[in-house]
Amino acid sequence: MLLPATPDRAAAVLPGLPLRSAIAHGCGRSYGDVALNPGGTLIDMRSLDRFVAFDAGTGLLTCETGVTLADILAAISRPAPDGSGWLLPVMPGTRFVTVGGAIANDVHGKNAHHLGSFGCHVEALELARSDGARLWCSRTENSDLFAATIGGLGLTGLILTATLRLRHVAGLGVETEDIRFARLDDFFTLDAESADGWEYTAAWIDCLASGDDLGRGLYMRARHAPGVSAAPPSRTPKLSVPVTPPLSLVNGLSVRAFNAMYWRKLGPSGRKSGVGSYEKVFFPLDAIGGWNRLYGPAGFYQFQAVVPPRDARAVTAALLSAIAAAGQGSMLVVLKRFGDVRSPGLMSFPMPGITLALDFPNRDAATLGLLSRLDAIVMEAGGRIYPAKDFSMSRGSFTQGYPALSVFERHLDPVMSSAFARRMGITEGEGIS
Ligand SMILES: Cc1cc2nc3c(=O)[nH]c(=O)nc-3n(C[C@H](O)[C@H](O)[C@H](O)COP(=O)(O)OP(=O)(O)OC[C@H]3O[C@@H](n4cnc5c(N)ncnc54)[C@H](O)[C@@H]3O)c2cc1C
Repeated sequence: MLLPATPDRAAAVLPGLPLRSAIAHGCGRSYGDVALNPGGTLIDMRSLDRFVAFDAGTGLLTCETGVTLADILAAISRPAPDGSGWLLPVMPGTRFVTVGGAIANDVHGKNAHHLGSFGCHVEALELARSDGARLWCSRTENSDLFAATIGGLGLTGLILTATLRLRHVAGLGVETEDIRFARLDDFFTLDAESADGWEYTAAWIDCLASGDDLGRGLYMRARHAPGVSAAPPSRTPKLSVPVTPPLSLVNGLSVRAFNAMYWRKLGPSGRKSGVGSYEKVFFPLDAIGGWNRLYGPAGFYQFQAVVPPRDARAVTAALLSAIAAAGQGSMLVVLKRFGDVRSPGLMSFPMPGITLALDFPNRDAATLGLLSRLDAIVMEAGGRIYPAKDFSMSRGSFTQGYPALSVFERHLDPVMSSAFARRMGITEGEGIS
């Protein structure tokens, strides 16, 4: 593991490394192996944690790429007396990720149907390559490398510094509405109804419900409330799970009991509205550090796929039916829509359609068998699987899901490789397992 302290030192380490031996590492919040490199070198970028400049006229923020989204929110998301303030335009479900990781996976948030993915708001980035070059890349300068680096899984070099365009909102606080729905069709009705008026939308799904109840869940929508202020969320979790229990606390029984209770949590009316902080809406899992320990020593797999809008209803039903029939899955299931705001990234995951994300407690062959069935359904529908959340996709599925792969490969840095890149056949490891 290398831990460069400055952009200059990070840039200096690359030329000395063997071919296909190294990968950048941010906060390690990716669920799969995009930031893992057994037998090779990890370059931990978290010490590149300095802010460089902020222009309050344009909202342009330049920072080193080990800065986390939590750091940015703590620094800029302070409300003015009228409640207005600056915000990151796109935030994933956790704020404990680095700017470098957010760019390299081109992460998305609950407002993907309005503002696209993180990469849509990157104005420029400085990339270090193993030939010693340091290149500023943007839509107009080294634009091919810019497109390859956004969503490029760290394989084009080290991103040292980035300039992001922040947004100014009339109220940092949000107005929220949660609505219970009884079946999958109702999700699509609510989603169509909410598309224009609500910036942030997502649904929780009871993944064990089947038959007439298939796809039942809670629809959550939110939008900024002008004049309502909200303090920035903390830079670390307030609570944490201190130890790993000997067995998974997430199993068929606990999931069924939790889901039945959670689905009814809105009471007889099935609706609840409120106004308040964005923290709970955007980052529910950040409240408890180390929540992943609840899965016990065997851990869990995460799966996220997107399928095109045309057959989205039928394909989502097929995915949920396969999951319910297998009796697997967890409490953490999210269904949401991606819109047609295009990312500049060649290899970005978001595309127009419906995306389903969920965790599966690891039951070895039974879980891998289910993941392979889900993979087949997604491929048949013309969809794709998210590398940041994958540990089981086949090479064929990756190639099919990411048609720009051959163009992307022209921009690989010869020193970079990861467990994911080798598993997908993007790079072969030289002397690396
Ligand atoms: C609770 C939770 C909720 C999540 N919700 C979402 C969500 O809603 N939407 C979503 O899109 N994702 C989501 N994710 C996934 C997470 O946002 C991404 O995996 C993110 O990229 C992790 O960033 P990181 O700093 O931890 O990077 P890592 O996981 O350490 O690395 C990710 C990738 O970035 C590369 N990288 C990191 N830094 C650099 C650098 N400086 N230069 C070049 N490459 C670099 C790595 O090589 C690797 O390929 C969630 C994860 C968790 C744990």
